[in-house]
Amino acid sequence: GMLWTVFLRWHYQEPAAEMAPVAKVGGLADVISGLGKALQKKGHLVEIILPKYDCMQVDQVSNLKVLDVLVQSYFEGNMFNNKIWTGTVEGLPVYFIEPQHPAMFFSRAQYYGEHDDFKRFAYFSRAALELLYQSGKKVDIIHCHDWQTAFVAPLYWDVYANLGFNSARICFTCHNFEYQGTAPARDLAWCGLDVEHLDRPDRMRDNSHGRINAVKGAIVYSNIVTTVSPTYALEVRSEGGRGLQDTLKVHSRKFLGILNGIDTDTWNPSTDRYLKVQYNAKDLQGKAANKAALREQLNLASAYPSQPLVGCITRLVAQKGVHLIRHAIYKTAELGGQFVLLGSSPVPEIQREFEGIADHFQNNNNIRLILKYDDALSHCIYAASDMFIVPSIFEPCGLTQMIAMRYGSVPIVRKTGGLNDSVFDFDDETIPMEVRNGFTFVKADEQGLSSAM
Ligand code: ADP
Repeated sequence: GMLWTVFLRWHYQEPAAEMAPVAKVGGLADVISGLGKALQKKGHLVEIILPKYDCMQVDQVSNLKVLDVLVQSYFEGNMFNNKIWTGTVEGLPVYFIEPQHPAMFFSRAQYYGEHDDFKRFAYFSRAALELLYQSGKKVDIIHCHDWQTAFVAPLYWDVYANLGFNSARICFTCHNFEYQGTAPARDLAWCGLDVEHLDRPDRMRDNSHGRINAVKGAIVYSNIVTTVSPTYALEVRSEGGRGLQDTLKVHSRKFLGILNGIDTDTWNPSTDRYLKVQYNAKDLQGKAANKAALREQLNLASAYPSQPLVGCITRLVAQKGVHLIRHAIYKTAELGGQFVLLGSSPVPEIQREFEGIADHFQNNNNIRLILKYDDALSHCIYAASDMFIVPSIFEPCGLTQMIAMRYGSVPIVRKTGGLNDSVFDFDDETIPMEVRNGFTFVKADEQGLSSAM
């Protein structure tokens, strides 16, 4: 006969580099807590593992305490102690790893963008697996996210499975194929991976240059590989794969796209504490009050309540269509609307360009650019805006269009990746009326965006 084992309660482990609201840079953070909560609601036991960043928002963690145990992990020929902290974030148990390593990997006052990011996250991946191994937990699924934790897949099968720690299966989710984590092959040895064994075209060697590629390793070594929308899953099988298309084709049987969702508790206009007035789909009075409040807060003109307000909340990087965002600002000014941009850029030239635009509109009381990261303000803008633009060049999933819709703001998006799977044009007669929910354009040029606006 056949032996059937049904795991009613799967034990998930999610090593990741971000988690909202403690350590957030972009959408990855939302997904780690949103997905974790959703799996937990289904009855699974979910635990998250994060680096203990010095810049994280400690006030968002309840019962943060350091554990009695020290976990030792291997790096560059030595063993290092790791302090392990635990706490609860959004009702989810989280382990925070604080390496006792002279390089102070996670005390750099920022999450990413350090010269040794590859080293920092190779270290974290190894230490996270060591934590699981030493805890003796029987884990069913280890779900790793993006290149920062991609090392977990080869480490698990090449190092830990041989030690008898082999109950788990590995799921790898790539949230953006633009970031792959490459380095000279010898750097793989830092975390204890076997360079000779892995520096091969069918394993971790990058497809176009002589380096090794962490995301490629996770594709080869995971049991299942996902990305964040069906359209993006198609796009990355060709140019969108940024050199990994052939690897994805070889492993296509275990690769699929699943559309992200948003955490509907965090993003809920009827309970949102950041809002001046809560509201819901049946009572939009509150939306007008939030628009008035934002106008006052940002010193925008308020004579005409119905003057449309266009919102945009984004990391300002090439992927997001920065030239189209700039165009939308000028176009909105020309059409007599109001525009509020909340965004910040890791790219100094882009940050400077937008500071220039902000100065240009300084005395125009219809346009405001707020060039920083501000969670509270983001909620107020979603609530206040009538429409919301996402003119991305490519977009794996995109969450801001979903949040905008949840707050009753009409999305205007470029038809790419997850935007194509979540926003359906109001004038598209090939689809049923009831699913049409926004405006889309295809060509990544100013004309396309203007016509949609
Ligand atoms: P990405 O992950 O590429 O940055 P997503 O659309 O998936 O893009 O997720 C963006 C998330 O980050 C959303 O929750 C959005 O509200 C938030 N966000 C982006 N920029 C800012 C900012 N400057 N201030 C506050 N929140 C921001």
